[in-house]
Amino acid sequence: MKPNTDLNESLMARARQVIPGGVNSPVRAFRAVGGTPRFVQRAQGQYFWDANGQRYIDYIGSWGPMILGHGHPAVLEAVQKAATEGFSFGAPTEREIELAEEILSLVPSMEMLRLVSSGTEAGMTAIRLARGATGRSRIIKFEGCYHGHADALLVKAGSGLATFGNPTSAGVPPEVVQHTMVLEYNNVAQLEEAFALHGKDIAGLIIEPIAGNMNFVRASVEFTRRCRELCTQHGALLIYDEVMTGCRVALGSAQSVYAKQIPGFEPDLTVMGKVIGGGMPLAAFGGKRSVMEQLAPLGPVYQAGTLSGNPVATACGLATLREIRKPGFFDDLSRKTHALVDGLKNAAAAEGLPFSADCEGGMFGFFLLPELPHNYTEVMKSDSGRFNLLFHGLLDRGVYIAPALYEAGFVSAAHTDEDIAATVAAAKEIFKELAPK
Ligand SMILES: *Cc1c(COP(=O)(O)O)cnc(C)c1O
Repeated sequence: MKPNTDLNESLMARARQVIPGGVNSPVRAFRAVGGTPRFVQRAQGQYFWDANGQRYIDYIGSWGPMILGHGHPAVLEAVQKAATEGFSFGAPTEREIELAEEILSLVPSMEMLRLVSSGTEAGMTAIRLARGATGRSRIIKFEGCYHGHADALLVKAGSGLATFGNPTSAGVPPEVVQHTMVLEYNNVAQLEEAFALHGKDIAGLIIEPIAGNMNFVRASVEFTRRCRELCTQHGALLIYDEVMTGCRVALGSAQSVYAKQIPGFEPDLTVMGKVIGGGMPLAAFGGKRSVMEQLAPLGPVYQAGTLSGNPVATACGLATLREIRKPGFFDDLSRKTHALVDGLKNAAAAEGLPFSADCEGGMFGFFLLPELPHNYTEVMKSDSGRFNLLFHGLLDRGVYIAPALYEAGFVSAAHTDEDIAATVAAAKEIFKELAPK
């Protein structure tokens, strides 16, 4: 129940005076779903509490990083200890080596990596590295995939097939995206045509293997195989953006899921973030030694960062990864995520509501569509009016999912079977109201 004075509302009014739109990242503003954003006061385990003291079951987990839930004791202890030893040095530490070794052992397609502070930074530099290592300019990205807000990647498809894209943000000159080709996700014919036309100029292809920025869309096995083959054949680098999927859909990330179906499959470069930082600003990119040695100070591709490999962030990431690699961790997480997805599907089916959902490890997505979509155009057909009613219905019942139709959801190790059951029960009530009469 809403108290008479909604403290979220008064905080939002105050925030709007000093921060554009009141938020430091646009989706937090609830523009897509309407209503007042919840200002988080504190979080513990699978819950957070807003300014009114209202509790929510948290299914965004900071958009993925909080795979253990909030305030995990081992992580908290590691962070507190690291903080007492110093916040930042601008000189190397042993913990950076430990974290690098840990990540490389989980994702063996990478032989070396570099730590940075955000997924945007990691993706942007992976592109620069691919261009520097190949001496080529063109890159391929796919409509609906998000790779951070670097200029060259803020681009949507142009009118013609395999043509140059158009900037999706003001402030990005067309010249800056003129080397970025934007293709349709899961469209093999278009991919083949792009390589046939421009193969010798393509430095790299960047893709979200399971696209979490269009909710949850898997690259098909056939599409993934062709991405790999065409990159190899034309000397382009296959860049896996696993900022969201990394150590989230499986311990070995999405590439380990595809390697089960495509023997020997690996990308050339991998971009990581979110889970590997455990909620602290930390990300990474890595790949084969020969490519990574193109980076400064060894090679000609420049990259640097004042806070890169930050000692508190590396402590947080390391403690997180040590928990998730414990035997059975992912089995248990997957089981809970499946229970949620199956529960929602059954509840929607019982009401005759068009609904589809999918999940892998601790990541899930659902659509108000009868069938799972395969690309951005199909995702866009999901019913946004009904989604907004579902979102607010859940919010009123103490369940927090992403405030936008095109965003994935996340289950943490802290979620219990009771939380899942309560979520499904809440959704069931709302589905009843939404069902076509
Ligand atoms: C979140 C995300 C990014 C950007 O990471 P930031 O840390 O927000 O800069 C890049 N790629 C993917 C796939 C993401 O989900």
